[in-house]
Amino acid sequence: MLKGMPAGAADLGRQLAVAVEEMAAWMGEYGGFATHPALEVDPAALEAATASLRSRLRDNYPFHHPRYAGQMLKPPHPAAVIGYLTAMLVNPNNHALDGGPATAAMEKEVVAQLAAMFGFRDAHLGHLTSSGTIANLEALFVARETHPGKAIAHSADAHYTHARMAHVLGVEALGVPTTPSGAMDVGALEALLASGRVGTVVATTGTTGLGAVDPVHEILAIARQHGVRVHVDAAYGGFFRLIADDTPGGVAAAPFAAIAGCDSVVIDPHKHGLQPYGCGAVLFRDPGVAGHYLHDSPYTYFTSDELHLGEISLECSRAGAAAAALWLTLRLLPLTPDGLGSVLRPGRRAALAWAALVEDSDALDLYQPPALDILTYLPARGRLSEVDAASAAVLARGMALPPDESLHLATYTVTGAALAERGHRVEADVANGRVLRSVLMKPEHEAAVPDLHAAVLSLLPDPV
Ligand SMILES: *Cc1c(COP(=O)(O)O)cnc(C)c1O
Repeated sequence: MLKGMPAGAADLGRQLAVAVEEMAAWMGEYGGFATHPALEVDPAALEAATASLRSRLRDNYPFHHPRYAGQMLKPPHPAAVIGYLTAMLVNPNNHALDGGPATAAMEKEVVAQLAAMFGFRDAHLGHLTSSGTIANLEALFVARETHPGKAIAHSADAHYTHARMAHVLGVEALGVPTTPSGAMDVGALEALLASGRVGTVVATTGTTGLGAVDPVHEILAIARQHGVRVHVDAAYGGFFRLIADDTPGGVAAAPFAAIAGCDSVVIDPHKHGLQPYGCGAVLFRDPGVAGHYLHDSPYTYFTSDELHLGEISLECSRAGAAAAALWLTLRLLPLTPDGLGSVLRPGRRAALAWAALVEDSDALDLYQPPALDILTYLPARGRLSEVDAASAAVLARGMALPPDESLHLATYTVTGAALAERGHRVEADVANGRVLRSVLMKPEHEAAVPDLHAAVLSLLPDPV
């Protein structure tokens, strides 16, 4: 059992040894053959090179540890590692059924599970992607095809990928102001839609910076009045659908429930789905959008008339191993409130508990209440330049401590106006400054909250 690996999941080494043995046995069924000497490497050289790799990988931050509460990073679940590596020994390519029927079937199964989680009941079209970026690109590409010549509106706090991909697609992107909760201002959206310029609205359920949740239910109602398409970027927050109905301690239920009525949604299993990088997903409610992807290929799609995933995807080669990893993980932690939901719930509780500690403290202020598991808070100082300096000091001092005492946080840049909107009386002596940000995406964060809070307090510089 590896330190920091969940108990009962696996002893990873043994599982991997079995995987190598069993997949080699399957390969052996095709008969032995002499492997080419060009591929042979000296065992001693392999030892030395892998030792060097392990040593170089020490140059990392401790993503696995509860005292790492910085960015959206954590190691995959051991089940995902086993799934990925087992399939990778074969190396199927999920572009086409010719590239590996087994993992293509697994991909269709996990995509159907994701669709069911979002409430796409009657039908859906979707596939895994290598990232949330590519998944959003695909959704915006379809949006451009269904609403040609029209702009895409997204909140000012939406991921920068939307403006960037709109540029790639040659579509105008318009930022909609946010309210003091960091969510899209629906009144401002309504005024924009009245202009007739917009063809698609992007709603975000869990912004990357603040974890703010746009009111998808209200956005959807307004968009439908104007014949506007709605795409939901749930890359970060999508799996919170599983605990949205919790009382108390849940997250805003209505926006997550409303995703069922939207046109498309993106989710990143490599964020809250316990997967290694290389796993995003895009889902469409109308399977008819497949028509926008139409192409033929003289060198693929020959083994079957069934749908090949490459026929509904902009990416060509994709790791079948990513589908196997997600499939295996969801066998053990299904998309239910008691399955994967129980992995997200402690992080949500951690954010609420830490927010309460911050509110009770004289030395720190809550930037805004957490909507998901991302907490933003600031040193209680009179001027924005002082808030910035104290935040930067906590960040740097925490990372400089010895490994077993170190604290890893992130910062988030805010404007004086954004602070004032949230009721903070901080003099904006500079245009913007950093506050502290913590992503509490590991269930172990819950038990660590008192320790994390005390560590931040101890790292605060004395006020000048
Ligand atoms: C992470 C994220 C993205 C980008 O996804 P990648 O997987 O990093 O490419 C897009 N939107 C939101 C809301 C995200 O959190």
